[in-house]
Amino acid sequence: MKKKRSVRRVNSVTSSRKEPLESLLRKDGLRLDGRGLDDLRPIRMEVGVLDNADGSAYIEHGRNKIVAAVYGPRELHPKHLALPDKALVRCEYRMATFSVEERKSPAPGRREVELSKVIRESLEPAIFVYKYPRATIDIFIQILQADGGTRCAGVTAAALALADAGVPMRDLVVGCAVGKIEGKVAVDLSDVEDKLGDGDMPIALMPTKKVITLLQCDGNLTPEEFKQALEKGIVACEKIYEMQRDVLIERYSKVRDEVTEEQREEEE
Ligand code: ADP
Repeated sequence: MKKKRSVRRVNSVTSSRKEPLESLLRKDGLRLDGRGLDDLRPIRMEVGVLDNADGSAYIEHGRNKIVAAVYGPRELHPKHLALPDKALVRCEYRMATFSVEERKSPAPGRREVELSKVIRESLEPAIFVYKYPRATIDIFIQILQADGGTRCAGVTAAALALADAGVPMRDLVVGCAVGKIEGKVAVDLSDVEDKLGDGDMPIALMPTKKVITLLQCDGNLTPEEFKQALEKGIVACEKIYEMQRDVLIERYSKVRDEVTEEQREEEE
Protein backbone atom coordinates (compact mmCIF):
# COMPACT_ATOMS: atom_id res chain seq x y z
CA MET A 1 0.00 0.00 0.00
CA LYS A 2 1.20 3.50 -0.77
CA LYS A 3 2.48 5.39 2.25
CA LYS A 4 0.00 7.94 3.56
CA ARG A 5 0.56 11.30 1.93
CA SER A 6 2.70 13.37 4.21
CA VAL A 7 2.53 17.12 4.55
CA ARG A 8 6.09 17.21 5.81
CA ARG A 9 8.33 18.69 3.18
CA VAL A 10 10.35 16.19 1.18
CA ASN A 11 13.43 17.87 -0.16
CA SER A 12 13.24 17.62 -3.84
CA VAL A 13 15.06 18.19 -6.93
CA THR A 14 12.68 20.80 -8.00
CA SER A 15 13.27 23.16 -5.12
CA SER A 16 15.00 23.46 -1.80
CA ARG A 17 11.96 24.94 -0.07
CA LYS A 18 11.23 23.63 3.36
CA GLU A 19 7.55 24.64 3.60
CA PRO A 20 4.87 21.99 3.03
CA LEU A 21 3.81 21.42 -0.54
CA GLU A 22 0.25 22.40 -1.40
CA SER A 23 0.08 20.42 -4.59
CA LEU A 24 2.25 18.48 -7.01
CA LEU A 25 0.70 20.40 -9.89
CA ARG A 26 1.11 24.11 -10.50
CA LYS A 27 -1.80 26.44 -11.22
CA ASP A 28 -1.04 26.16 -14.95
CA GLY A 29 -1.51 22.36 -14.75
CA LEU A 30 2.18 21.58 -15.19
CA ARG A 31 4.24 19.61 -12.71
CA LEU A 32 6.57 21.32 -10.21
CA ASP A 33 9.56 20.86 -12.53
CA GLY A 34 7.61 22.34 -15.45
CA ARG A 35 6.82 19.05 -17.18
CA GLY A 36 3.47 18.02 -18.63
CA LEU A 37 1.92 14.79 -17.32
CA ASP A 38 3.28 12.75 -20.24
CA ASP A 39 6.76 14.29 -20.34
CA LEU A 40 9.94 12.44 -19.48
CA ARG A 41 12.72 14.10 -17.54
CA PRO A 42 15.86 14.98 -19.56
CA ILE A 43 17.89 11.84 -20.20
CA ARG A 44 21.56 11.44 -21.12
CA MET A 45 23.31 8.13 -21.64
CA GLU A 46 26.87 7.06 -22.30
CA VAL A 47 28.31 3.63 -23.03
CA GLY A 48 31.78 2.24 -22.29
CA VAL A 49 32.57 4.56 -19.39
CA LEU A 50 34.69 2.14 -17.33
CA ASP A 51 37.95 0.57 -18.53
CA ASN A 52 38.00 -2.33 -16.07
CA ALA A 53 34.56 -3.79 -16.70
CA ASP A 54 33.61 -5.89 -19.75
CA GLY A 55 30.76 -3.49 -20.38
CA SER A 56 29.53 -0.32 -18.75
CA ALA A 57 27.11 2.55 -19.07
CA TYR A 58 26.23 5.80 -17.37
CA ILE A 59 22.82 7.40 -17.29
CA GLU A 60 21.49 10.70 -16.08
CA HIS A 61 17.74 10.43 -15.87
CA GLY A 62 16.50 13.72 -14.49
CA ARG A 63 18.63 14.15 -11.39
CA ASN A 64 19.35 10.42 -11.10
CA LYS A 65 23.00 9.62 -11.84
CA ILE A 66 23.69 5.93 -12.24
CA VAL A 67 26.58 3.83 -13.42
CA ALA A 68 26.24 0.18 -14.45
CA ALA A 69 29.04 -2.34 -14.97
CA VAL A 70 28.90 -5.87 -16.38
CA TYR A 71 31.41 -8.71 -16.11
CA GLY A 72 31.02 -11.89 -18.12
CA PRO A 73 29.96 -14.28 -19.30
CA ARG A 74 32.82 -15.65 -17.19
CA GLU A 75 33.72 -18.63 -15.04
CA LEU A 76 31.67 -18.82 -11.87
CA HIS A 77 33.15 -19.01 -8.39
CA PRO A 78 32.20 -20.70 -6.14
CA LYS A 79 31.53 -23.50 -8.61
CA HIS A 80 28.73 -25.11 -6.58
CA LEU A 81 26.52 -22.14 -7.53
CA ALA A 82 26.81 -23.02 -11.22
CA LEU A 83 23.66 -23.93 -13.11
CA PRO A 84 24.11 -26.96 -15.38
CA ASP A 85 22.06 -25.64 -18.28
CA LYS A 86 22.42 -21.85 -18.23
CA ALA A 87 24.41 -18.89 -17.01
CA LEU A 88 23.75 -17.56 -13.53
CA VAL A 89 22.82 -13.88 -13.72
CA ARG A 90 23.73 -11.95 -10.58
CA CYS A 91 22.78 -8.36 -9.94
CA GLU A 92 23.82 -5.93 -7.27
CA TYR A 93 21.95 -2.62 -6.90
CA ARG A 94 23.56 -0.24 -4.42
CA MET A 95 22.96 3.36 -3.41
CA ALA A 96 26.03 5.39 -2.52
CA THR A 97 26.00 6.92 0.96
CA PHE A 98 25.94 10.36 -0.67
CA SER A 99 23.19 9.53 -3.18
CA VAL A 100 20.34 10.89 -1.05
CA GLU A 101 19.96 13.94 1.13
CA GLU A 102 20.44 12.23 4.46
CA ARG A 103 23.49 9.97 4.51
CA LYS A 104 22.47 6.44 3.59
CA SER A 105 24.02 3.62 5.56
CA PRO A 106 26.71 1.90 3.45
CA ALA A 107 25.37 -1.50 4.51
CA PRO A 108 22.99 -2.94 1.91
CA GLY A 109 19.45 -2.60 3.21
CA ARG A 110 16.38 -4.75 2.49
CA ARG A 111 15.32 -2.32 -0.25
CA GLU A 112 18.64 -2.80 -2.10
CA VAL A 113 18.37 -6.57 -1.80
CA GLU A 114 14.82 -6.45 -3.18
CA LEU A 115 15.73 -4.08 -6.01
CA SER A 116 18.74 -6.22 -6.96
CA LYS A 117 16.32 -9.13 -7.37
CA VAL A 118 13.65 -7.29 -9.36
CA ILE A 119 16.25 -5.71 -11.65
CA ARG A 120 17.87 -9.10 -12.28
CA GLU A 121 14.47 -10.59 -13.08
CA SER A 122 13.69 -7.76 -15.46
CA LEU A 123 16.98 -8.18 -17.38
CA GLU A 124 17.35 -11.96 -17.49
CA PRO A 125 14.55 -12.63 -20.03
CA ALA A 126 16.52 -10.57 -22.57
CA ILE A 127 19.76 -12.53 -22.15
CA PHE A 128 20.53 -15.75 -24.04
CA VAL A 129 21.47 -17.47 -20.77
CA TYR A 130 21.29 -20.99 -22.26
CA LYS A 131 24.33 -20.23 -24.42
CA TYR A 132 26.57 -20.15 -21.34
CA PRO A 133 25.92 -23.11 -19.02
CA ARG A 134 27.87 -23.04 -15.74
CA ALA A 135 29.04 -19.44 -16.38
CA THR A 136 28.05 -16.21 -14.67
CA ILE A 137 27.07 -12.74 -15.79
CA ASP A 138 27.52 -10.15 -13.05
CA ILE A 139 25.69 -6.83 -13.17
CA PHE A 140 26.54 -3.99 -10.80
CA ILE A 141 24.39 -0.87 -10.54
CA GLN A 142 25.63 2.05 -8.46
CA ILE A 143 23.27 4.90 -7.72
CA LEU A 144 25.44 7.99 -7.37
CA GLN A 145 22.51 10.38 -7.03
CA ALA A 146 18.89 9.37 -6.51
CA ASP A 147 15.76 11.23 -7.49
CA GLY A 148 12.97 8.68 -7.91
CA GLY A 149 12.77 5.88 -10.45
CA THR A 150 16.28 4.58 -9.81
CA ARG A 151 15.31 0.94 -10.39
CA CYS A 152 13.96 1.83 -13.83
CA ALA A 153 16.90 4.01 -14.83
CA GLY A 154 19.14 1.25 -13.41
CA VAL A 155 17.52 -1.29 -15.74
CA THR A 156 18.04 1.01 -18.73
CA ALA A 157 21.72 1.51 -17.85
CA ALA A 158 22.33 -2.16 -17.08
CA ALA A 159 20.86 -3.23 -20.44
CA LEU A 160 23.27 -0.83 -22.16
CA ALA A 161 26.18 -2.22 -20.13
CA LEU A 162 25.18 -5.79 -21.08
CA ALA A 163 25.12 -4.82 -24.75
CA ASP A 164 28.48 -3.06 -24.32
CA ALA A 165 29.92 -6.24 -22.79
CA GLY A 166 28.83 -8.12 -25.91
CA VAL A 167 26.43 -10.35 -24.00
CA PRO A 168 24.08 -11.91 -26.58
CA MET A 169 20.58 -10.51 -26.04
CA ARG A 170 17.24 -10.96 -27.75
CA ASP A 171 16.35 -7.32 -27.06
CA LEU A 172 17.36 -4.34 -24.95
CA VAL A 173 15.41 -3.62 -21.77
CA VAL A 174 14.11 -0.17 -20.83
CA GLY A 175 12.64 1.00 -17.55
CA CYS A 176 10.33 3.86 -16.69
CA ALA A 177 7.98 4.52 -13.79
CA VAL A 178 4.45 5.81 -14.26
CA GLY A 179 2.23 6.92 -11.41
CA LYS A 180 -0.61 9.03 -10.15
CA ILE A 181 -0.27 12.56 -8.84
CA GLU A 182 -3.20 14.73 -7.78
CA GLY A 183 -5.51 12.03 -9.15
CA LYS A 184 -3.92 12.14 -12.64
CA VAL A 185 -1.73 9.59 -14.37
CA ALA A 186 1.79 10.99 -14.86
CA VAL A 187 4.87 9.59 -16.54
CA ASP A 188 8.37 9.30 -15.04
CA LEU A 189 7.84 10.33 -11.42
CA SER A 190 10.50 12.33 -9.62
CA ASP A 191 11.39 11.67 -5.99
CA VAL A 192 8.92 14.18 -4.59
CA GLU A 193 6.14 12.88 -6.86
CA ASP A 194 6.97 9.31 -5.86
CA LYS A 195 6.85 10.14 -2.16
CA LEU A 196 3.85 12.49 -2.10
CA GLY A 197 1.90 11.15 -5.05
CA ASP A 198 -0.99 8.67 -5.01
CA GLY A 199 0.72 5.78 -6.77
CA ASP A 200 3.90 4.55 -8.42
CA MET A 201 4.13 1.86 -11.09
CA PRO A 202 7.64 0.93 -12.30
CA ILE A 203 7.70 -0.82 -15.68
CA ALA A 204 10.47 -2.49 -17.67
CA LEU A 205 9.95 -3.42 -21.29
CA MET A 206 11.76 -5.40 -23.97
CA PRO A 207 10.81 -2.84 -26.61
CA THR A 208 11.05 -4.72 -29.89
CA LYS A 209 9.58 -7.94 -28.48
CA LYS A 210 6.91 -5.91 -26.63
CA VAL A 211 7.39 -8.01 -23.50
CA ILE A 212 6.99 -6.48 -20.05
CA THR A 213 9.64 -7.84 -17.70
CA LEU A 214 8.91 -5.71 -14.63
CA LEU A 215 5.58 -4.45 -13.38
CA GLN A 216 5.16 -3.28 -9.83
CA CYS A 217 2.44 -1.10 -8.39
CA ASP A 218 2.49 0.82 -5.15
CA GLY A 219 -0.69 2.80 -4.46
CA ASN A 220 -4.32 2.69 -5.52
CA LEU A 221 -5.10 2.85 -9.22
CA THR A 222 -8.53 2.13 -10.68
CA PRO A 223 -8.62 -0.43 -13.55
CA GLU A 224 -9.00 2.48 -15.99
CA GLU A 225 -6.03 4.36 -14.46
CA PHE A 226 -3.96 1.17 -14.50
CA LYS A 227 -4.69 0.68 -18.22
CA GLN A 228 -3.84 4.30 -18.97
CA ALA A 229 -0.65 4.11 -16.88
CA LEU A 230 0.47 0.95 -18.64
CA GLU A 231 -0.12 2.47 -22.08
CA LYS A 232 1.74 5.66 -21.17
CA GLY A 233 4.55 3.67 -19.57
CA ILE A 234 5.04 1.63 -22.74
CA VAL A 235 5.16 4.79 -24.88
CA ALA A 236 7.70 6.30 -22.45
CA CYS A 237 9.85 3.16 -22.58
CA GLU A 238 9.77 3.24 -26.37
CA LYS A 239 11.05 6.83 -26.33
CA ILE A 240 13.90 5.85 -23.99
CA TYR A 241 14.67 2.85 -26.21
CA GLU A 242 15.30 5.22 -29.15
CA MET A 243 17.94 6.99 -27.04
CA GLN A 244 19.48 3.66 -25.97
CA ARG A 245 19.72 2.53 -29.59
CA ASP A 246 21.22 5.85 -30.73
CA VAL A 247 23.89 5.82 -28.03
CA LEU A 248 24.92 2.25 -28.95
CA ILE A 249 25.03 3.07 -32.65
CA GLU A 250 27.10 6.18 -31.96
CA ARG A 251 29.54 4.30 -29.73
CA TYR A 252 30.03 1.37 -32.10
CA SER A 253 30.27 3.42 -35.27
CA LYS A 254 33.10 5.30 -33.50
CA VAL A 255 34.77 2.00 -32.54
CA ARG A 256 34.38 0.74 -36.13
CA ASP A 257 35.92 3.95 -37.49
CA GLU A 258 38.86 3.64 -35.05
CA VAL A 259 39.44 0.00 -36.05
CA THR A 260 39.35 0.85 -39.76
CA GLU A 261 41.75 3.72 -39.17
CA GLU A 262 44.16 1.39 -37.29
CA GLN A 263 43.96 -1.20 -40.08
CA ARG A 264 44.69 1.49 -42.65
CA GLU A 265 47.72 2.66 -40.69
CA GLU A 266 49.00 -0.94 -40.38
CA GLU A 267 48.64 -1.49 -44.12
CA GLU A 268 50.57 1.67 -44.97
P1 ADP B 1 12.91 3.94 -7.07
O1 ADP B 1 14.17 4.73 -6.93
O2 ADP B 1 13.03 2.82 -8.03
O3 ADP B 1 11.71 4.82 -7.36
P2 ADP B 1 11.81 3.72 -4.42
O4 ADP B 1 10.38 3.97 -4.84
O5 ADP B 1 12.05 2.72 -3.33
O6 ADP B 1 12.66 3.23 -5.67
O7 ADP B 1 12.51 5.06 -3.98
C1 ADP B 1 12.08 6.29 -4.46
C2 ADP B 1 13.11 7.33 -4.15
O8 ADP B 1 13.23 7.50 -2.75
C3 ADP B 1 14.53 6.99 -4.60
O9 ADP B 1 14.74 7.17 -5.96
C4 ADP B 1 15.32 7.95 -3.76
O10 ADP B 1 15.31 9.25 -4.35
C5 ADP B 1 14.54 7.95 -2.47
N1 ADP B 1 15.16 7.05 -1.50
C6 ADP B 1 15.29 5.72 -1.56
N2 ADP B 1 15.96 5.23 -0.51
C7 ADP B 1 16.26 6.29 0.26
C8 ADP B 1 16.97 6.47 1.50
N3 ADP B 1 17.50 5.44 2.15
N4 ADP B 1 17.08 7.72 1.97
C9 ADP B 1 16.55 8.77 1.32
N5 ADP B 1 15.90 8.68 0.15
C10 ADP B 1 15.75 7.47 -0.37
